[in-house]
Amino acid sequence: GSREQVTGIDDLPVRDELRGKSPYGAPQLDVPVRLNTNENPYPLPEALVERIAERVREAARNLNRYPDRDVVELRTELAKYLTKTGNHRVGVENVWAANGSNEVIQQLLQTFGGPGRTAIGFEPSYSMHALIARGTGTGWISGPRHEDFTIDLAAAQRWIAENKPDVVFITTPNNPTGNAVPPETVLALYEAAQTAKPSMVIVDEAYIEFSHGDSLLPLLEGRPNLVVSRTMSKAFGAAGLRLGYLAAHPAVVDAVQLVRLPYHLSAVTQATALAALEHTDTLLGYVEQLKGERDRLVGELRAIGYEVVESDANFVQFGRFEGEGGSHAAWQKILDRGVLVRDNGIPGWLRVSAGTPKENDAFLDAVRELLGFVG
Ligand code: PMP
Repeated sequence: GSREQVTGIDDLPVRDELRGKSPYGAPQLDVPVRLNTNENPYPLPEALVERIAERVREAARNLNRYPDRDVVELRTELAKYLTKTGNHRVGVENVWAANGSNEVIQQLLQTFGGPGRTAIGFEPSYSMHALIARGTGTGWISGPRHEDFTIDLAAAQRWIAENKPDVVFITTPNNPTGNAVPPETVLALYEAAQTAKPSMVIVDEAYIEFSHGDSLLPLLEGRPNLVVSRTMSKAFGAAGLRLGYLAAHPAVVDAVQLVRLPYHLSAVTQATALAALEHTDTLLGYVEQLKGERDRLVGELRAIGYEVVESDANFVQFGRFEGEGGSHAAWQKILDRGVLVRDNGIPGWLRVSAGTPKENDAFLDAVRELLGFVG
């Protein structure tokens, strides 16, 4: 037959559910103060940079070989870190690692979701959950929250009972709103999910190290359908590393290996992550500083006159921006002052990541002017 010239995505035989869509990602703008992607503002300490170089040099000598497919040494160290910080004994058999928690979540949906299956999340929440669902052919159900962004437990239980999803996402602390989910709520949702199906419950703890409260790792005891997902992108200040991991029953670790690509975690990634874990104490020291800055942001934003959602993460959701253009106009005005924050498309609200004290001051100056509090 006749061959037309291909000019764009829609001329290709892409899957129907991808038509007309755009790739996920916040604008990467080159401005003085970037507080839009919940990164850790502190570069890695020089001693760690040296250690990474050392371990990567060693790994380089073996790059002619495939890396450890089962990632045993790194999973062992991650298990030790979780055991030390999580009030729960975690062994290597409970841990799995991949390229960012995004890949962990993708592997979980490839394993427990997929065509003919559905996942539910309570929105607004981390929008990649829905996008990874789409990418894996998993149906998506957008569950409810209260006006104050806490999970509406009664409604959530009803939705789970009625929709019988195969996977339930709970993000705690939640992104972009910052609030943590009480353990009782997680337990009640787990029970609802087991009664309805039973289904897998994924607790996304990407920001847990910044929380006032504890990790939900102890809930793993006796709950084989529960998964806790973690990342080195935030607390370890290593977003560029791409290392996410999960803790769960050993059967879950076995199951995700059915879909993981062989040698998915490069030898360079494994070496770098191991070096970073050697410096856990230093890196968690930065977390303490950031928690202080986060609490300062909450306090000062409230003092200026903004509404702020209680935050257990390294970012703060603030508002409300009513009227003409609402939050997007405010986002632009803050950007005009050299500060990039995040507009997650939640009407009336913006999100700011906790930066260094200087960056946070620049942000606070910008939002003070915005409200006309500066003469
Ligand atoms: N979960 C949540 C809630 C997040 O906010 C993020 C990063 N924005 C991730 C997972 C993914 O992080 P990564 O892939 O870098 O581990």
